[in-house]
This record gives sequence, C-alpha cells and structure tokens, in this order.
Amino acid sequence: MALMTPEQFEESLKKLKPRVFMNGKRVTSVLENKNTRTVVEANKASYAWALDPKYRDIMSCYSPLIGEVVNRYTHVSASVDDLVKKAEAGTFTAEMLGTCIYRCVGYDAFHALASTTWEMDRDLGTGYHPRFLEYLKMVQRQDLSAAGALTEPRGERNKKTLEWPDPYLSLKMVDKNKDGIVVRGAKINISGAYASHELVVLPQGAHFEGEEEYAVAFATPVDAKGITFVCQYTPYSAEREQAEDLEELGNPVYGQRETSMVVFDNVFVPWERVFHCGEYKYSGKIVARFARTHRMTCGGTCKVGFMNQIIGASRLIQEYKGLEKAAHINEQLAEMVVLRETSRACGLEAARRGTEEPPGSGVFLPDELMGNVAKLNVCNAFWRMMALAGDIGGGLIVTLPSLKELKNPEVKDYVEEFYSFGSDEPTENIMKVTKLLQNWTAGLHGVGTWHGAGPVQTQKIMLQRVISYDHEKKLVKRTLKLKEKGKKSEPED
Ligand SMILES: Cc1cc2nc3c(=O)[nH]c(=O)nc-3n(C[C@H](O)[C@H](O)[C@H](O)COP(=O)(O)OP(=O)(O)OC[C@H]3O[C@@H](n4cnc5c(N)ncnc54)[C@H](O)[C@@H]3O)c2cc1C
Repeated sequence: MALMTPEQFEESLKKLKPRVFMNGKRVTSVLENKNTRTVVEANKASYAWALDPKYRDIMSCYSPLIGEVVNRYTHVSASVDDLVKKAEAGTFTAEMLGTCIYRCVGYDAFHALASTTWEMDRDLGTGYHPRFLEYLKMVQRQDLSAAGALTEPRGERNKKTLEWPDPYLSLKMVDKNKDGIVVRGAKINISGAYASHELVVLPQGAHFEGEEEYAVAFATPVDAKGITFVCQYTPYSAEREQAEDLEELGNPVYGQRETSMVVFDNVFVPWERVFHCGEYKYSGKIVARFARTHRMTCGGTCKVGFMNQIIGASRLIQEYKGLEKAAHINEQLAEMVVLRETSRACGLEAARRGTEEPPGSGVFLPDELMGNVAKLNVCNAFWRMMALAGDIGGGLIVTLPSLKELKNPEVKDYVEEFYSFGSDEPTENIMKVTKLLQNWTAGLHGVGTWHGAGPVQTQKIMLQRVISYDHEKKLVKRTLKLKEKGKKSEPED
C-alpha cells in the first residue's frame, strides 16, 4: 500500500532542506517554527486519515495507475464518483482542520496536467503525457504532498507580459538544454508549499505568440537549488510566535491559511519533470482546467467545512448566553445553514455534472459552469456568514483579553466571573470559542476566501464564456409559438 504513516511523513520532511524566511529571519526547520508547523500538522493529518478505517473511504482510493491504494490527493479523477468523493473530501478536511488541506492545489494541478498533456500529445505529437504519468506514479508510490503554484507577481495589469519592464514578473524559462530547462521568476500566495515535498508549477494565465518562454509547466522538489520561500506574516503569525501556550489561539493546532512567495532564481528542472514548454496555445487550457477542479473544492465544498466551524461556534455562544429562544438568532443560524447547504449543493453539482476532458483522455473534471457558480456563490455567502457570526458572538469577538489572564492571580477571579455569562460553562470554554470566532470573522478568512481560486471577476468572465442561452430561448419560442426568423409559418414543435 502506497501510504505513508503520519510519522513517516514527518520523517520525510526532515530530509528536505527548503530555504524559508519568515518575519525577517531564516526558518531553519519548518517542523519546529510555530507558524510553519501548522502546515506540517495539516498535511500530516491527511496521512493519518488515509489510514484510518473511519475516514479512508474518503481520503484514499485505488489507483489503477500503480495498482495500489493511494491518498486521494494524489489521484486523478477517472469518474464522476471520484469527483464527488473529492468534493466531499474538501468539506471533510476543511471542517476537521479549520484551514486548508495544503495538498489540494497540487491535486488540482495534477488534473490540469493529466488532461492537457494528453491533449498536447494528441494534437502536437509531444511526449508529455507518459512523462507526466511516470511522475505521478512516483508521487503516488512515495505518497508525496504536492503544492500547486500558478499566481505570479505580474506587472501593471493593463499591460501584457512582454510589455512589463521586468521580464521575470511572470515565471520565465531562461535556458533550455539537452538536460532540461532553467526558470527564473516567482509565484506568490502559494499555500503550504514549504511543508510539502513537491511543487507543481503551472502558468498563471493564457500565453500568446512571442510568449513561448513563459509557457512552462513542471514539477520540482521544494528544496531544489535556487528556490526560496518568503512566508506571509500577519498579526496572527505574530500572536502564534509569541504564544507560550498554543491553547489560547483561535485554531491552536492548524492555525490560519499559510502561504508564501516562492522565488525561482535560475532553478534547473530536468526534462523528465517538464510537462509544457513553449506550446503557448495550451497554457490557457492548463489554467482553465486547473480552475475547473479548484473552484469545485477551494471555491465550493471546502468552505462548507469552514462554515460548519463557524456555525458550531455561533450555536455554542448562543447557548452559553442563554439565547436559545431568541428568534432572530435562530433565524440567523438557519440562514447560515441555508448558505452552507447552497454552497455544498453547488460544489457537489459541479462534481456530479463532471465530464471526461478531453473525451478519450480518461481524466474527469468538474462542470465548468457549476464550479464557477460554486465559487461565486461562496464568495458572497462567506462574508454573510462572517457577519451573522459576528452579530451572534458580540463585541467580545474582538475585545476579549488573553486566556493567560485565567492564570494571572491578580485578575483570574474577575475574568472567571465576568466572562462566564453567569452560566455553569467553564469560562475558559467560552473564551476559546469566542477566540475561534475571532479567527473566522476578524482574521484572514474573508479576503482569503474571496481571492483563493481567483477573485470574482475571473468567475464572471468564465461564466460569460460558458453560459449558453439556447435552451431558454427555445423554451420561450415554444411557449409562444414564435415564428422562425424570415418565415411566416409557425415553428415545428
Ligand atoms: C489564502 C490564499 C491562498 C492561495 N493559495 C494559492 C496557491 O496555493 N497557489 C496559487 O497559485 N495561488 C494561490 N492563491 C492566489 C490566488 O489565486 C490569487 O490571490 C487570486 O488569483 C487573485 O490574484 P491577486 O491576489 O494577485 O489579486 P489581483 O489579481 O491583483 O486582483 C485584485 C483585483 O484586481 C482585479 N484585476 C486583476 N487583474 C486584472 C486585469 N487584468 N483586468 C482587470 N482587473 C484585474 C481583480 O479582478 C481584483 O478585483 C491564494 C490566495 C489566497 C488569498
């Protein structure tokens, strides 16, 4: 069975030496730094679940590619059932972690590559698909975690790639020889990459004639020479860094959604890891297919898991405050459930309407229309969810003192008494749940949810491309028995 234990995963990370910086300092061990550790913990959980009889149906599956059971996050969907399971895994991992499962973007990148390398080989006679499958087999056999990297620094958005004064604002191939390629540039906002084994790199967008050197996709170990990670740093990072006791943080073990800028300073990639090189007409397809899978989960079902955390915390606070009979709060909670279920339905429907893309490739992708609808819906639903939880939680969400005061002999009794709502619930519980709501409503998740998987305008543009109104027009013509254009007679039924 090609599945690592959580302990083996941790050991495997020790063998890697990624070059990581955070808050102006070198992170010598991503396993020990309190912030990067959260990513290790989240990925580690995915190894435990795949082996756990309770969860293995959702977190693992049989791979015909290597004839063994693999982690779901290394499997390329070959059926609608696979897609539905992945949509459900998105919810499961998000609600268990309260943050990203950092293997998700890599999984989506695998789908984009499996589908488009097949198509490039068919159309152009290239040999990318078998090369990609060999790579994927290695990933599956070794049960590797892969991060996915598309987003680039970019120059002024009203200019094209070749017009930017700095040619490396989009990742560029700077050399190509018999052994492989060399790339220079950066990817930004990349989730959890430094605590993964592999980085799967795709173009950020479509490319055009003259931009062949930007039309590249490849995979690299995270500690390849020339790669540097510059981590995000937020008030939440500072809080975790300074915390003596992690228990007092909103999400003690798994923390926030952690990203970094990944710099590629003349990184060499051997040919066996290059899956797209110069065929600019296919860059857009790679990105669009990535977005199809990514929007189903990152845009859709994983936010259902986040919403479950918010709903649970809001309900507990309602009970702690003795507000079970407050009609408006019950209405707010019900609205949250409606938002959650609408989000779930859109994500699952994207999976259920999934198709083989391109036909004959054996790769299944979620439905484009529903994936974009799912993400668009979640963007707005999540802000609303945050607002509702903010109302129920009250001002304490942002005014609560540290849980350390519960151990401070000078004020301990005051804090115990005055934050207890006069209930017999331990004050510590009330404070922890309130801190969790702070994490969800006053932290990074609103903007993170909006921009992760692309800001709404990208979904709107995609929707304009895929929506067809033919069916609706036909219905009206049928209802009204409209005459055909240029004809006097009534249309045939
Ligand atoms: C928590 C989090 C995790 C992420 N994880 C990953 C990851 O693992 N891998 C990865 O590749 N990416 C990741 N991303 C990146 C994410 O996909 C991008 O943030 C998103 O695509 C938006 O890009 P941007 O942040 O550069 O914003 P921008 O593109 O600058 O968007 C800001 C605004 O400018 C508008 N805009 C941008 N360009 C144009 C244009 N040409 N014309 C008109 N309007 C324009 C947008 O519509 C938006 O309104 C992550 C992001 C977040 C927040």
